[in-house]
Amino acid sequence: FDIALWDLKARRANLPLAKLLGAHRDSVRCYNTSGGFLHETVEQIKDNATRTLESGVGAIKIKVGLPDRSEDLRRVAAVREHLGDGVPLMVDANQQWDRPTALRVGRALEEFDLVWIEEPLDAYDVEGHAELARSLTTAVATGEMLTSVAEHYELIRAGAVDVLQPDAPRVGGITQFLKLATLADHHHLQLAPHFAMEIHVHLAAAYPREPWVEHFDWLHPLFNERLETRDGRMHLSDRPGLGITLADQTRAWTVETATTDAPR
Ligand SMILES: [Mg+2]
Repeated sequence: FDIALWDLKARRANLPLAKLLGAHRDSVRCYNTSGGFLHETVEQIKDNATRTLESGVGAIKIKVGLPDRSEDLRRVAAVREHLGDGVPLMVDANQQWDRPTALRVGRALEEFDLVWIEEPLDAYDVEGHAELARSLTTAVATGEMLTSVAEHYELIRAGAVDVLQPDAPRVGGITQFLKLATLADHHHLQLAPHFAMEIHVHLAAAYPREPWVEHFDWLHPLFNERLETRDGRMHLSDRPGLGITLADQTRAWTVETATTDAPR
């Protein structure tokens, strides 16, 4: 509801949401997040990466966290070699490591010039993340699983994160996200919102420091419009509000009225 109300507010102002929020830019750096899952072979990941870059998305993120840590390193090395030095590369461990493993693998990954290491530890291990962030020169990214500003603030206050990854729907909508963005900027953090690029492209465009947006096509069937990506960036449209409308098949899944038998 919060997101829908912000969409409505921007539509009534006849402005794209990013502009209503005071956008700092018309496009945001974007990376592909779905080309390097653990079940895929290195060859598949390399092919996915090539196609991704050709499509105008500018960076690649791959999963790590296999039971065999040396296999993780081999995969990252192969992808880095395939991409060359100029293409930004990130890894995402999806909370697979304990503290010693995260430190050991994190140190071994330093040589690949990663943009960040994502979710190296349990999402709620604030102390572990703080220790890791102090020990590694590679940025530590986390926050996608957290459900409130207060939980994110624990991370921020402890110095446990370099790249904050809030998820607007998960933290309670755009109102809460904006509070977090202010906190993150005040603490000089990078911002890379999690999932739902259709919403986050606007919020990232309004963040003062150059952010990243995660390119996911999973929600495409829901909407009539497509976000434009070229030259490594996702571009805002000039359509008002979020700039998206529900596809017919999605409308069919919604209801117009609901009745309840709540006591009078
Ligand atoms: Mg992730």
